[in-house]
Amino acid sequence: MIEWVIEGRLRLLTNLHVGSGSPNDCVDLPVVRDGEGSIFIPGTSVAGALRGNMEELQKVLGWEHRHGDPTCDCPACAIFGSSAPSEYVVGARVRLVPSHVWVYDSYVVSEGGNTREVTTIRDHVGIDRVTSAAAHHAKYNKESVLAGTEFSFRLAVESDMEHWYMLAAVLEEWKCGRGFIGGGKSIGFGKVEIVDLRVFRLDLSSIEKLLDYLESDSIAESAEPSFLSEEPDWLPDVLLQNWNNLVVDSPERVFVELDLELSVDGGVVVSDIISQFDEKCDVAPIKQDKQYVIPGSSLRGMLRAQAERISRTMATNASNGIDDYLERCPACHPFNLSTSHEGSCESGYRARLGEGGGTVDLGEETCLACRFFGMTHLGSRLSISDGFVEDFKSLDKFNFVAIDRFTGGGLDTALFDAAVLMFPKFTTRILLEHPMDWELGWLLLVIRDIQDGLLSVGWGKSKGFGRLRLEKMRVRELWTVDKSEPISARRNGVFVVKNEYDSFTRLWNDMSSLYLNALHQALSAHEWKLRNGTDSYFNRRIEDTLFLSDLYPKGGSN
Ligand SMILES: [Zn+2]
Ligand SMILES: [Zn+2]
Repeated sequence: MIEWVIEGRLRLLTNLHVGSGSPNDCVDLPVVRDGEGSIFIPGTSVAGALRGNMEELQKVLGWEHRHGDPTCDCPACAIFGSSAPSEYVVGARVRLVPSHVWVYDSYVVSEGGNTREVTTIRDHVGIDRVTSAAAHHAKYNKESVLAGTEFSFRLAVESDMEHWYMLAAVLEEWKCGRGFIGGGKSIGFGKVEIVDLRVFRLDLSSIEKLLDYLESDSIAESAEPSFLSEEPDWLPDVLLQNWNNLVVDSPERVFVELDLELSVDGGVVVSDIISQFDEKCDVAPIKQDKQYVIPGSSLRGMLRAQAERISRTMATNASNGIDDYLERCPACHPFNLSTSHEGSCESGYRARLGEGGGTVDLGEETCLACRFFGMTHLGSRLSISDGFVEDFKSLDKFNFVAIDRFTGGGLDTALFDAAVLMFPKFTTRILLEHPMDWELGWLLLVIRDIQDGLLSVGWGKSKGFGRLRLEKMRVRELWTVDKSEPISARRNGVFVVKNEYDSFTRLWNDMSSLYLNALHQALSAHEWKLRNGTDSYFNRRIEDTLFLSDLYPKGGSN
């Protein structure tokens, strides 16, 4: 019997994409709508997200979910039910645990100050590693619900279930803004927080309440029926009473959050079709609800491309020739998807499975870049959110003439104009899940290149546009809680905050030695097992570059 009702609102901290799976006339990937055209998040998607978060959380607390096993007794299975595939159960005498939680569909309740539509449509492109231009075959557009929008959130819960403090733990995490729903997590999509969480208990203590209850169709339908009484201390009480289940013997680092404040030294344009149409220019900066945006996808592409460059240079420096280099190549060519023409882990993966019955250990056989930044079949442990422009000097229009390569004159048909955002400042957050020391070393080198003015984002790099500067950086780590520790004031969700740095220099001075040593070790120990051939891209002989050991020191100095 349902005994608890939990409700609140889901506030989108970043854009959200929960797809309907079928493209329409305008969009390759539209968001899901009901029969009346209202945008909603299906309860199954919210439940899946809560469950996914619980599986991750229980893993760091020492519980393992046995996927596909109906006898699994982990907290996620106890609360959300067994997740056994049907063929496993047929004829077997296994009691499937039913779900003890009902999750209702979430509908838009507040548009977060948005004055126009609640959704936007963005182009997504991959960067071609050879030409640095957008890779044409990797281009699509995607609709998403705008950050700031709020959805309803409602759960009905049975009382008698094991481990139900884990539901409280996940709700506490979501209150801290660490919920993720839907697709595009790696480009910062789908980050949510729960606000105004309220917990009600079924209360049949009087005859009026009992009658009211018997007459109602469903316990969770009406807003605040008499037979529900609020329990304002439920969440802290449950966490406190079960705290010994949420601590560990040997604490580990679970998240690292990096908040970056970036500026552009000059102009920048990250353009898409809608902004071009709105601004009536060939290229124009993306705007979302009156605010300019540098998309997380563009920032991510830039970080990854630079990380690939750095690691290939370091591996080249440490290799004994091209064959040795290819054996240990740390970063594949992610947009080369041909299975006959190797170059990416994805193509190697497809080729291996295509040979029939082959298996791939994605965590062991992929290149280091795919392990850190992800690939189609592996996901990513690094997410980076949209950079919302807080301040800029002006929006300037530039006219350009393409030069005819034959006559040297201007081409009449090749005149184009660009709306360029001048001297903007924006912030973005990079969230790393379970980062290893070598991954932090790698990221540290990329951020140092930003600080040195070596990285550009968006259109017109050859014209000097998009060059980033690091204004400020703040880093903090979230660790599982040591069982000997008292419930401290430094608690954040069910984790504790450790090792905070308020500038890049402090992080570099304290940690670069450890992290860069780990990176050098990871690079030299790495074997690229998914590679099973060579291609023109990697087979190009790469000349040893002078001063590499100065550029990428093995820790210590700066
Ligand atoms: Zn399980
Ligand atoms: Zn790869």
